[in-house]
Amino acid sequence: MSDLKRSWLESANAPETDFPLNNLPYGVFSVDDGDLRCGVAIGDRIVDATGLEAAGHLRPDPDAYVLDAPNWNDFMELGPVAWYAYRQVLSMMLAEGADDHVQDIITTFSVPMAKATLHMPFKVAEYTDFYAGRHHATNVGTMFRGPENALPPNWLHMPIGYNGRASSVVVSGTDIRRPWGQLKAPNADTPVFAPSKRFDIELELGAIVGTPSDGPLTVDQAFENIFGYVLLNDWSARDIQAWEYQPLGPFQAKATATTISPWIVTAAALKPFRTATPPREKPLLPHLADTTPMNHDIALSVTLNGEQIAQTNSNELYYSSAQQLAHHASAGGPMRVGDLLGSGTISGPEKRNRGSLLELSWGGKEPLETASGPRSFIEDNDTLALHGASHGDGYRIGFGPCTGRVMPAAEHPFAP
Ligand code: MN
Repeated sequence: MSDLKRSWLESANAPETDFPLNNLPYGVFSVDDGDLRCGVAIGDRIVDATGLEAAGHLRPDPDAYVLDAPNWNDFMELGPVAWYAYRQVLSMMLAEGADDHVQDIITTFSVPMAKATLHMPFKVAEYTDFYAGRHHATNVGTMFRGPENALPPNWLHMPIGYNGRASSVVVSGTDIRRPWGQLKAPNADTPVFAPSKRFDIELELGAIVGTPSDGPLTVDQAFENIFGYVLLNDWSARDIQAWEYQPLGPFQAKATATTISPWIVTAAALKPFRTATPPREKPLLPHLADTTPMNHDIALSVTLNGEQIAQTNSNELYYSSAQQLAHHASAGGPMRVGDLLGSGTISGPEKRNRGSLLELSWGGKEPLETASGPRSFIEDNDTLALHGASHGDGYRIGFGPCTGRVMPAAEHPFAP
């Protein structure tokens, strides 16, 4: 028996759609250069949530307009009870058997997805990137420091992270410029300032904080505070990174851009796909210990110019997003609505499971054979895309692609 929740909108019942009634992800769209509006994806259409609110048909908060921003931050601010109620009502309006009158309202306040341009679904308050994938950390550590020192001594005790820049986060479809930076060959005495030659992707899951906090959180509280998830590509200049990363971690190597997929897939939609973290090699301290399954079974893949070059699963993450958030809050710092937590690259045990070109080409030593030619790192005009979906019985919870094309480096005003 299928677990698909059937909709009167036939395209939402197609087995291959990313957006069945079970999903209902939140985004921001525009049509024909019109206003940006909050929208909900269903089948091949987008429900105009801002329009429904303005017309009084579906208001998340009876006392204030929260979908006119246009982003989902004010809605997230309402908290889990409002999130639940809104999802329930919208679900009923779209479900098979809804009144003709309700169907007419939805038809009026929706547009074909093919006609829409998608924008950033939320305002990123702050952006943090973790390093919570064990296979990735082991692979990169082996390349940078040798197999004996691959995992730093702290790695099995806490999710390692760094503070990134919210301003660098862009929505899928945004072109990416190859960055300039300081590069130093291992045998050179001095660095040069030049366009990166080792520009790369990182296949990650992004978690969005929906409930703010001001002090330490348990892992359970942290899990409850996460509103939803996006795919996240942490564009990384490996040559800049290798020269700059000690002693304070990545900086300009990660400052070019971070691309996210356009739809916030809610924690509620992913509930049937919760799964445990991998076995612990060393027990975690109590404040980070696992309580219930908080990872998710999301099949992930990477394409280069349309050709699949890697596939993995978010269940490979050694630390769940909830554990990342609990660690983030553990020293007492406040977390805000719209904080974005990148998971770190998600690789798996096999070569084909590697979520970065650095790992796939083993630092450029084993170039990948692709239909576009051999690739150690990204070439100009390559389009890289991340894909993700959880597969239920008779339906899938898709994220929509997380895509970016890499444009040649611009003329740099201070280039030598
Ligand atoms: Mn990263």
